[in-house]
Amino acid sequence: MTTELVLLGTAGAPMPVAGRAGISSALVVDGRVLVIDCGRGAPSAFAGAGLDFSRLEAVFLTHLHADHVGDLPGMLLYGWGVRARGDRPLAAIRVYGPSRATTLPTGDATFHRQTTIHPELPTPGTTDLVEHVLAGYAYHLNVMPLDARMPDADALVRATDITVPSPAEDIPPFPVIVFDDGIIQVTAVAVTHGRAVPALAYRFDTPDGSVAFSGDTTVNEDLIALARGADLLVHQVADLGYLKRHGTDDAELARMAALHTDVTEVGGVAERAQVRELILSHYLPADPAAITEAEWAQRAGHGFSGTTTAGCDGLRRTLPRRQDGHGGPKTAPLNV
Ligand SMILES: [Zn+2]
Repeated sequence: MTTELVLLGTAGAPMPVAGRAGISSALVVDGRVLVIDCGRGAPSAFAGAGLDFSRLEAVFLTHLHADHVGDLPGMLLYGWGVRARGDRPLAAIRVYGPSRATTLPTGDATFHRQTTIHPELPTPGTTDLVEHVLAGYAYHLNVMPLDARMPDADALVRATDITVPSPAEDIPPFPVIVFDDGIIQVTAVAVTHGRAVPALAYRFDTPDGSVAFSGDTTVNEDLIALARGADLLVHQVADLGYLKRHGTDDAELARMAALHTDVTEVGGVAERAQVRELILSHYLPADPAAITEAEWAQRAGHGFSGTTTAGCDGLRRTLPRRQDGHGGPKTAPLNV
């Protein structure tokens, strides 16, 4: 048995850039494929990495910004035709992600919306998103099976909303157990990503070890606790100083600082979490020509005694099997 991490895309923010795909990662556990976020180009990167759509078991969404979910429809629909064994459809792809927001955030004088889209449900959750994908692609799902051998569309996908206590509820931030089949355990905590509430970080424990994904967040104590002792921490990174030097104004910068962990902070996060390797992803700026991988790694590694790696599209890491054969799923309270 092996657990392998594959970075499918490492760009942050929705705007496409040349040379770097949108944020998405895969974890391959004994041939079973789990995908974390589905940014721009994720299905192509999935195929490019040699992964098999018939082995895609689940997708975990950190939050519902378009740069993290924009290619979810393709991830579900492009591989539909291979999701059968003989005459029977394979088990549905499970999609886990944030539940509906409980309130529609308001803006201020500088940042506000002019039009509220879909006011009857302005903050749909993951289940709503998947239902709307199916509704929007009903033509394909209803008509394609008449001209090609396709498994039953009803077996394609099942979505689950993850509910995490909000900070306002003043409940100790236990990690929520999202998934546990005795081999893979997935836990999540809420992180802090501006007005994107809920936003999640995930930890995956397998018999080979553990991998944590920060999602998009400022420095967050619950993420540090969730990631504690993980073999790999895939963490987003931003260079706010670069953005300032390239024309981002103070109001925008203040907003960015409430959304992301800066390159000067991420090494400290990894050190406090005592992870073995910090892997940078979700770069801001996303353009690979803006900052070299060597510079990202060198600056992000400050204050971290483990290995810092600047992630790139296609990067792979295989976790060694542990001596005791167990990854040690964490179910204890994390309010330490
Ligand atoms: Zn993002």
